[in-house]
Amino acid sequence: MNDLPTAPRRSRVLHRSSRATPPVAVGGHGVWLVEQGGREILDASGGAAVSCLGHQHPRIVAAIHRQADRLCYAHTGFFSNEPAEALAEELVGHEPGGLTQAYFVSGGSEAVEAALKLARQYFLEIGQPQRGRFIARRQSYHGNTLGALAAGGNAARRAPYAPLLSDAFSHVSPAFAYRGQGEGEDEAAFTTRLAAELEAEFQRLGPQNVAAFVAETVVGATAGCVPAPEGYFRAVREICDRHGALLILDEVMSGMGRTGTRHAWEQEGIAPDIQAVAKGLGGGYQAIGAVLLSGRVADAVEQGSGAFQHGHTYLAHPIACAAALEVQRVIREDGLLDNVMAMGTLLDARLQERFGNHAHVGDIRGRGLFRAIELVADRASRAPFDPARQLNARVKKEALARGLACYPGGGSVDGVRGDHVLLAPPYIVSAAEIGLIVERLG
Ligand code: PMP
Repeated sequence: MNDLPTAPRRSRVLHRSSRATPPVAVGGHGVWLVEQGGREILDASGGAAVSCLGHQHPRIVAAIHRQADRLCYAHTGFFSNEPAEALAEELVGHEPGGLTQAYFVSGGSEAVEAALKLARQYFLEIGQPQRGRFIARRQSYHGNTLGALAAGGNAARRAPYAPLLSDAFSHVSPAFAYRGQGEGEDEAAFTTRLAAELEAEFQRLGPQNVAAFVAETVVGATAGCVPAPEGYFRAVREICDRHGALLILDEVMSGMGRTGTRHAWEQEGIAPDIQAVAKGLGGGYQAIGAVLLSGRVADAVEQGSGAFQHGHTYLAHPIACAAALEVQRVIREDGLLDNVMAMGTLLDARLQERFGNHAHVGDIRGRGLFRAIELVADRASRAPFDPARQLNARVKKEALARGLACYPGGGSVDGVRGDHVLLAPPYIVSAAEIGLIVERLG
C-alpha cells in the first residue's frame, strides 16, 4: 500500500476551476509576495490595484493590532465607533461644496450597490419617485453583486446571470479613444459625439425618469486603464445637471491616489454627487469600501424620512476603519502621491521604450501608477487576438512563472475589447523595482 502514488490532495477551498488551483501565498514585504516554498513574486498590480502600500506595512499592521486590542466590533444599528468617525473626517468635508459624508461598507461591489440605492433614496426624499433609471457604459465593471453587475457593461460577465439582472440600467458607449474614436475624428469631435449619445439616451428614457449616470472615472479591468478624453466628464456633468440627474463615479479601482490625486475626478475639473471607493482605501489590509456623498444627497437622506434601507452586519467595521485610516495617513504623511506621479511617469517611459515599437503592442496608456498595455494581433488595424488563444490567461501564467504578478484583462469576447495587461504597483515602488517589472514583463 505504502508505495502506491497518492493523488495530490484537492483543496477544500472552492477555486474558480480545479484546473487552475492557485499557488498559496504565505507572506509578503513591500512590493513582494512570498509563496509556500519561499519563492518571491514581484507584485506589479497590487492584486487588482489594491495593495497601495505593499505588503505587511508595519504602521498598518500595528494599527490593526491596536484596534483589535481596544474594540473589534460594535453593530452600527446601535453604535458608531472611533475609527469610523476619524476615517470619515480624513476623507470628506475638506472642500466647500464638496463631498461631506462617508458610508462604510466591506468592499467595492457593496459600495456600488449602496451608491445606487442612495441615489434612488435621494429622489424619493426630494419627491421625484419616478426617477428609477440608470445609464451606465459598455465595457465597464462595477462589481459582481447583482445590482453592480447590472450596472456594469461587461458582456461576458453579465451573460450567465442575465435572468437575474435588473433592466433599470441601459448602456452607452465608453469613452475609449483607442477603440472608439473614428478615423479622422479628433478628440473634441469624439467627445461631442459621446455627449450627444448620452443626451439621446436621456431623451429616449425621458430625462425626468433618470436617477443617475454611472461611470468609472478611469476605466479599470474591462478595458485597461482608460482615461476619458479631455472635456468628456465636464460634458457629462453638464448633461446630468441640466436633467436633474446625479453623477455617480466608481473609483473603486482608480481612486484613493492610484492616478496621482486622491480622487481621479480631481483631474477632470468636476466632482461627482456620489462616489464609490474601495481597494486602495484599505490597501488590502482589511475588507473595506465606502460611498462618499455630496452635501445635498447626504442631507436629503440623513435629514429626510430615515427610510434608507441598506444595512449590513459589517458596516463601518472598527478594525477595517482603523486599518484604512492608517493607510490614508501614511499616504498623506509620507507624501506618497508624489511618488505615484514620479514612478508613474517613469513606468510609462520604460513601457514606451521597451514596448512602444513592439509588433503586438497597440497602445500604452493610463495615469499615475495605473497603467496598461494593450496587446493586438495587428498594430495597423488594431485587430485583437483571437479570444480562443486566451492570451490574457497565458500572459498571467508566463509572468507568474517568471516571478511577476500582473493583472491581465480582456479576451476579445465582443470583438471590441482587446487583451491588456494592467500594471498597478504599490505607491512605495522604487525606480529599480519599476525597471524589474518592465524587464520581467518583456
Ligand atoms: N468597481 C470597480 C471599478 C472595480 O474595479 C471593482 C473590482 N475590480 C469593483 C467595483 C468591485 O469591487 P469588489 O471586488 O471589492 O467587490
